[in-house]
Amino acid sequence: MKYVIIGNSAAAIGAVEGIRQADKQGEILIITNEPYHTYSRPLISYYFSKEKIKTSVKAGDLKLPHTENNSANTAFGGSPMKYRPADFYKDNNCELIHSTAVQIEPKKKKVMLADYSLVPYDRLLVATGSSPFTPPQFENLEKKHNFITLDDAIKLEKSITENSRVLIIGAGLIGLKCAEGILKRVASVTVADIAPRILPAVLEDESAKILQSHLEEKGIVFKLSTEVNNFDEYDIVVVAAGVRPNVELLRGIAEIGKGILINEKSETTAPDIYAAGDCTESLDVSSGEIKIMALLPNAYIQGEAAGVNMAGRDEPKVFDKAIPMNAVGFFGLHVITAGNYNGEVYTANTNKDYKKLFYSDNKLNGYILIGNIEKAGIYTSLIREKTPLDTIDFKLICEKPGLMAFTKEERLIKLEGVS
Ligand SMILES: Cc1cc2nc3c(=O)[nH]c(=O)nc-3n(C[C@H](O)[C@H](O)[C@H](O)COP(=O)(O)OP(=O)(O)OC[C@H]3O[C@@H](n4cnc5c(N)ncnc54)[C@H](O)[C@@H]3O)c2cc1C
Repeated sequence: MKYVIIGNSAAAIGAVEGIRQADKQGEILIITNEPYHTYSRPLISYYFSKEKIKTSVKAGDLKLPHTENNSANTAFGGSPMKYRPADFYKDNNCELIHSTAVQIEPKKKKVMLADYSLVPYDRLLVATGSSPFTPPQFENLEKKHNFITLDDAIKLEKSITENSRVLIIGAGLIGLKCAEGILKRVASVTVADIAPRILPAVLEDESAKILQSHLEEKGIVFKLSTEVNNFDEYDIVVVAAGVRPNVELLRGIAEIGKGILINEKSETTAPDIYAAGDCTESLDVSSGEIKIMALLPNAYIQGEAAGVNMAGRDEPKVFDKAIPMNAVGFFGLHVITAGNYNGEVYTANTNKDYKKLFYSDNKLNGYILIGNIEKAGIYTSLIREKTPLDTIDFKLICEKPGLMAFTKEERLIKLEGVS
């Protein structure tokens, strides 16, 4: 069997590991247009750290399957950016082609590369991720930067000086991670967003204010509900105004909405073509909506499901528990969120720890944790499993999450890892 994977990031790596769970022999070919070993995009901001990160960054910022112990903590000269160890490709018997896939020919089952050469496949995975969206008013701005890839971080690092006044457009995850990364290396960092709060797609007003105060204490200036049109007072402008899925390779070949449509087995609507990660749209089980969930854990798990199913394991792997979920830290303050924020609300706010749970119709819909994030996994599992709240001690779960709030049978299942 010949497997071809387009992309070399979280979804692609998940697929390699998924394939190897079921097929140790098949040929795996990875086509990537970045010149690097696979790396973790959420960690590119640590490129600005003077010591180039060394051991200070915990990979636990993003708890990923198979990475907790952790390959991401080594590499790129001791930086934690590397998503898998140096021997990953060798160990998994994969070949890398550094080129851009420009076209898929589904009838001939071939992928055309930039040099017009053709790569045949039996099963294909499209894991092309997303590209930065640049609003028209920034297109011709000379001092503009993006912040998506390691190359973006390298270019930005070369451009900044200790006198740089930096404006970041967009107070989402990417903009804030950039702000955190460069703050100590420049004269000032201002983050502007037309939204009235930071992390507008991740937090609600109250939790956004807590995080904003924390970032302001560190020295980041915010201009919210603001559209900046005059850039004279800034030396560098980082445009972090969102991303768009890279779907073009499958246009006319498979069904595409906002992203490439996949089912719970990561199959597209085209035979023998799978897709996973930021380039796709899929079912959010917390809300029942089909949407793009451009998040690293989803990318990995969808990729892994694709890999297992491409290899045709007897028992297919189904990932039907995708939810929007973020695990991120800024200057040591951890934030984890999951699901949606509809329904009744339980709030607890003590010192620096903040917790908000959202529930309705006898199930947990979502949560926001800031500070103490230790028991986040319990809340995530309640959302993913749609656990009926009347089968557990929900009051105890709200106040002191732990296994004791579950029935004996459920505790056994969870302890044995069956669930
Ligand atoms: C600064 C930053 C912070 C983030 N923070 C978080 C966070 O806190 N939590 C979280 O969950 N997620 C976060 N994310 C998002 C996370 O990184 C993505 O969800 C994840 O990387 C998606 O993985 P992917 O494999 O789908 O795609 P990508 O990581 O986008 O990788 C796709 C790869 O495919 C390559 N490619 C595309 N087209 C072609 C082609 N035609 N031929 C060859 N190669 C091609 C691309 O160059 C790229 O290498 C962050 C991202 C950034 C940039």
